[in-house]
Amino acid sequence: MFVIIDEMHDAWGFGEFESFAEAMAELERLATIPWDEPPNQAPCVQWRECGPTYAVAEYDAAVGKHAEIVFVPYLRITKNGATWLHEHEALTEQARPAGGVGSEQQGNGAVHR
Ligand SMILES: [Zn+2]
Repeated sequence: MFVIIDEMHDAWGFGEFESFAEAMAELERLATIPWDEPPNQAPCVQWRECGPTYAVAEYDAAVGKHAEIVFVPYLRITKNGATWLHEHEALTEQARPAGGVGSEQQGNGAVHR
């Protein structure tokens, strides 16, 4: 399945999707929501100047969320609006440079990567 996270804040819980297309449809919906309304309002103290960066990965629930998962950032939302970071191409191994965001960080919320 596919999951959406807020990569900026290492926040999970934006949904699980059977297909990449369904995850993209949810991003399209999120892109229509202002940055100061849930679930787009960032969980940090400077949320007014911040916002989520939604990233998508294929996720195997049997492995667990702290396994090595390559997230690809697709959508950045700020007070200036939504910015698409990638076209809606399918996830590929080449979509992100090596040495990107690690998945070992735990906890949630207020710390920026
Ligand atoms: Zn923030």
